[in-house]
Amino acid sequence: MIARTEPDLHEVDPEIEALMRKEDARQRDSLRLIASENYASRAVLTATAGSLTNKYAEGYPGKRYYEGMDFIDPIESIAIARARQLFAAEHANVQPYSGSPANLAALLALCQPGDTIMGLSLPAGGHLTHGWKVSATGIYYKAVQYGVRRDDNRIDMDEVRSLAREHRPKLIWVGHSAYPRVLDFPAFAAIAQEVGAYLAADIAHIAGLVAGGAHPSPVPHADVVTTTTHKTLRGPRGGLILCKAAHAAAIDKAVFPGLQGGPHNHVTAAKAVAFKEALAPSFTTYAHQIVANARALAEVLIGRGFRLVTGGTDNHLMLVDLSPRELSGRKIAHVLNGCGIELNANSIPFDPRKPFDPSGLRVGLAAITSRGLVTEHMGTVGELIADAIEVAAAGGDPARCAAIRGRVAEFLAPFAAPGL
Ligand SMILES: *Cc1c(COP(=O)(O)O)cnc(C)c1O
Repeated sequence: MIARTEPDLHEVDPEIEALMRKEDARQRDSLRLIASENYASRAVLTATAGSLTNKYAEGYPGKRYYEGMDFIDPIESIAIARARQLFAAEHANVQPYSGSPANLAALLALCQPGDTIMGLSLPAGGHLTHGWKVSATGIYYKAVQYGVRRDDNRIDMDEVRSLAREHRPKLIWVGHSAYPRVLDFPAFAAIAQEVGAYLAADIAHIAGLVAGGAHPSPVPHADVVTTTTHKTLRGPRGGLILCKAAHAAAIDKAVFPGLQGGPHNHVTAAKAVAFKEALAPSFTTYAHQIVANARALAEVLIGRGFRLVTGGTDNHLMLVDLSPRELSGRKIAHVLNGCGIELNANSIPFDPRKPFDPSGLRVGLAAITSRGLVTEHMGTVGELIADAIEVAAAGGDPARCAAIRGRVAEFLAPFAAPGL
């Protein structure tokens, strides 16, 4: 036996190791309300950390360009089978590096450069990759953006239909990063069918809710469904594409060789682990608990006098509208971070302020639900948020922030942070 003399991370790079430990502690001690974030399990984190990162595997199971696939092929095949089972999908591609590359692959598979695509505009809660002008999807495709109604801030299906009839898009995106209501997938499918467009559903934010039965599934209605695996789905950083069998070959070809090289096998393994976790009954409980927590928190915040975009939520997130008090979302979010409450400033529909310093705060419930908080805790969560906003609005006095930070840490101490 050769003695193991390889040094550990703390010996090789104490600087990076120390920063990583500090980030662990920060995630443990703060109230994490960023709607796109979560706590991946210890099992998911472990799967990303092994020797699979050393292996090249261009191609797909059984059709690879490299040798040594004895264990990579079964890992990817298991991930694919679990993804298909979890979402009742005809085909799954588990190789996209993240949500944005998954969306580019869907466009590459179904559209030609210059084709017209439609998506929810960024200020209305859509995502950059649905055709926003600075995104490759807005540069290489002719993007038409739909919005939400001015009066109730909900997606206006009449507008979607009239824009689709007028512009005859090749593909319509349905999906969001900041829309607090249920998406009507059958209505989108009917419009897409009427104008001969493909329907692509991007469930990056809500995939965990869909998997757990707490939001309707787009899979029966859409040609292609894309998602991240790390938001409410609670897996590793990555992407996933589901599609009808008719599009399977085009999607696979678009991911590799169209857009990517070798898949990240260590992430594929962790996706498989996350899909297994999501197939367990406890995940259904988690998904429904997220929505229950969001509804309960919305009521507390409304009770404290805040206006929420659309007046509440059906999913894992809500948007607090600070415009009646003419507050800067950016400044408030920054002070809240100093209070141990982590959320992000976000544009609200028809925002009077600039996107870099908008009027909204986006609040997401996935991470604290993974941590074990339930509806009875939302009163305290709401009080902490509301108190911190008042401290921030009054100038963000450091002593008052420190007091809230102490309350947050004390409140969270009994709840173990998964994976940390
Ligand atoms: C987060 C998100 C993405 C992009 O995912 P990344 O992994 O950050 O590239 C795509 N679409 C929507 C709707 C998202 O919310």
